[in-house]
Amino acid sequence: MLGPVILAASRSDQMRRIVSAAPVTKPVVNRFIAGESVQETVPVVQETAARGLEVTLDVLGEDITDPAEALRARDAYLELIEALKPLALGVRAEMSVKLSSFGQALSGGHELALKNVTPVVEAAAEIGTTVTLDMEDHTTVDSTLAIHAELRQRFPQTGAVVQSYLFRTEDDCRALAEAGSRVRLVKGAYKEPATVAYQDKAEVDKAYIRCLKILMEGEGYPMIGSHDPRIISISQELARRAGRKLDDYEFQMLYGIREAEQFRLAAEGHRVRTYIAYGTDWYGYFMRRLAERPANLAFFLRSLVSR
Ligand code: FAD
Repeated sequence: MLGPVILAASRSDQMRRIVSAAPVTKPVVNRFIAGESVQETVPVVQETAARGLEVTLDVLGEDITDPAEALRARDAYLELIEALKPLALGVRAEMSVKLSSFGQALSGGHELALKNVTPVVEAAAEIGTTVTLDMEDHTTVDSTLAIHAELRQRFPQTGAVVQSYLFRTEDDCRALAEAGSRVRLVKGAYKEPATVAYQDKAEVDKAYIRCLKILMEGEGYPMIGSHDPRIISISQELARRAGRKLDDYEFQMLYGIREAEQFRLAAEGHRVRTYIAYGTDWYGYFMRRLAERPANLAFFLRSLVSR
């Protein structure tokens, strides 16, 4: 029940100032992010890869208000890609980007985001890897999917994310389930109105399964972005029925969440990718993690009282 309140707070500047300044916040944040800099994050990537997982890397930042910040986001990803080069991990280390940090919400934002993200996708391709476009709130979906389609003309491996809570997503899955496409299916992490999205968790879960079925039966490469044990076992069954081999789809989970399960699936021969976020602009990402799960919020609140 607190989820929507926390999600509303995740977009409040006042709450951002209060939560960010609280001295107790940082240790809790550190459970979900790998570090503040690329130098702190590369060893985490190396260790994760050495233990048999793949990674997708997110330089934290979203909802920027100034074009100069979009250039900083682009440069931060270019710095990351340069740092990944010597590791030679190829697609085992890909990037996740939020187009709002590349200027999508600014005036002329669609073109600006495409212009700013293109060098990142090019640089990723040069080191043998790729980029997945995270999905943000519903107002951005058309623009993000159009940028995805545009990028795929030169870089067919560019990934898209779809959110099962949106009514439109089954249709989007049908359109995306084509040969060579990489699609991450998630439930959705933003506060969306009842005009566009299921509000009931059970409805979101049912929609997830319908979308998953479309992706598994399609020709693309499904990426199952969920920690939900039910979703994970249904995915395995749907993949089996669709005749997919273990490397014809992958599981994705967030850094710091259900780690043992990530390694268990990898030990069974599944491809498992950990979404590793890093950087100083962690507020929105952190608040969405608190909103998703009462236990995460309880962990945060306990750390406040146990000081
Ligand atoms: P939930 O529905 O939150 O929980 C279902 C069950 O999963 C729980 O009952 C519990 O059994 C288990 N579970 C969940 N969390 C935990 C935990 N912390 N510890 C133990 N068990 C747990 N959202 C977007 O809107 N856009 C994106 O681009 C996006 N990218 C994502 C990328 C990845 C790799 C992942 C994993 C998620 C992403 N999300 C994104 C977030 C997503 O939309 C959900 O908000 C988030 O994953 C929570 O949903 P869930 O399916 O994991 O499980």
